[in-house]
Amino acid sequence: MADAPPCPACGGPTAFVCRAILYPGAERDARECAACASAFYWPVPSFEDIARCYPPAYYGGFFRQYWKDYYKGRALAARLSRWRPDGDFLDVGCALGTLAAGVRDHSRWRARGLEFSARAAQLGQGLNGMEISAAPLSSAPFENESFDFIHINNVLEHESDPGAALAAAARLLRPGGRLELTVPNGPVDFAPNKTLFRRWGRAVPTRHGGHLYFFSRRGLRALLAARGFRVLSARSFHFKLGAKARGLWPGAYKRFAKPAPPPGDAGVPPELTLEQGRALIPPAPSWPLYAASHAWRRAWRLSWSDFGYDFEIAAERR
Ligand SMILES: [Zn+2]
Repeated sequence: MADAPPCPACGGPTAFVCRAILYPGAERDARECAACASAFYWPVPSFEDIARCYPPAYYGGFFRQYWKDYYKGRALAARLSRWRPDGDFLDVGCALGTLAAGVRDHSRWRARGLEFSARAAQLGQGLNGMEISAAPLSSAPFENESFDFIHINNVLEHESDPGAALAAAARLLRPGGRLELTVPNGPVDFAPNKTLFRRWGRAVPTRHGGHLYFFSRRGLRALLAARGFRVLSARSFHFKLGAKARGLWPGAYKRFAKPAPPPGDAGVPPELTLEQGRALIPPAPSWPLYAASHAWRRAWRLSWSDFGYDFEIAAERR
């Protein structure tokens, strides 16, 4: 069956859809599900291939976006506290643990982080005093039923076995606990690859880096249901990006005609020290202004539309 794998989301039949570029220099086959329209690289890229999607210098960005992450955590703290006054919170793919620090500092919730990169986890412990375990979700070093709320932000599409990752999240949650999953809207994320392969007859480097899976709403629902989750809401957002990915924005596909830039960074040395990282953190912006724009942006997360580039899914562990 190696040449005809079933859909990793819904189990439906799949077929070759196009060649796609996993990272500059690595062109691979992608397949698409006839039942749910999810797409994925096949064969599943090797561990070495996946590691090459993440150059070590990318930690610099986590320091530059410190306040964005911290305020996002602070806003999440308010939502969590309205649900339950306290509990155990886990941020999966927490990078420096900055969002988790925002939750911890502005609620009675206990917060921990899980991060694939040992270096990011170590920097985050120093920066935020956060307890961060360096491991993939599928082998997270926590007892069963340790958490009430698990936040998984832009991680699932990078996992080599997303079903195992969600099964791990179900295992870590207490019954009635909640999962908040942010994940690209797969068919939209994948649209430039598919369209440009047909149009230009070759694989084209597009904007996503290291995404292995491109799940549709229907695929995500099937994947979650099979791992013991009940979906409470599924909303799409980032509508301008959605229009760009569909080629509806003027010139949206033009930049893909250029060869891919070599993997690199914005002048941050690869072995970033904590002190160098701290120096990259900008001054704190205004919280009330952030909170107002955050509330406005959240109002545009729509459950009845699949137009947006990303999904936010809330699910309850049965
Ligand atoms: Zn499917």
